[in-house]
Amino acid sequence: MGMRPVAGQGVMTSPVGGRVEYRLARNAVVAEFRRGRLSRLDVCDAHPELVRAARHVGTPSGETCPICDEGDLVEVTFVFGARLPANGRCVTSPRELERLRRRKDPVVVYVVEVCPDCAWNHLVRMDPSGATLPGPPARAAGRPTAR
Ligand SMILES: [Zn+2]
Repeated sequence: MGMRPVAGQGVMTSPVGGRVEYRLARNAVVAEFRRGRLSRLDVCDAHPELVRAARHVGTPSGETCPICDEGDLVEVTFVFGARLPANGRCVTSPRELERLRRRKDPVVVYVVEVCPDCAWNHLVRMDPSGATLPGPPARAAGRPTAR
């Protein structure tokens, strides 16, 4: 399945640093929406496959959707790495995630927050794990443009 929202934000398939949180970027988008600078069309653009994944394998985050104020947010986890689908493996259970993290090859775990009701979605965090992590710390990355 595709993971366009994250792919558009620059997916790294080989880990270059530690875990990166996208909470600030996420909150900035929510703030822009509340100020009326972004419409629902702008922010509720989850791919149908992502919404379906959210309904079936998402983990409830315990938060209410900041956009529609009705939906219960869920987190969907994707894993990228060698011998995994180019669009990432959509993880369906903690056990599967644990197994992927234990692989010899490095993997990168992406967690996306999704509202199944209105299709709001945003990257929550990126977490490289697995084999030894080479290279310098990852530079901070968020949504490339303030839409
Ligand atoms: Zn919503």
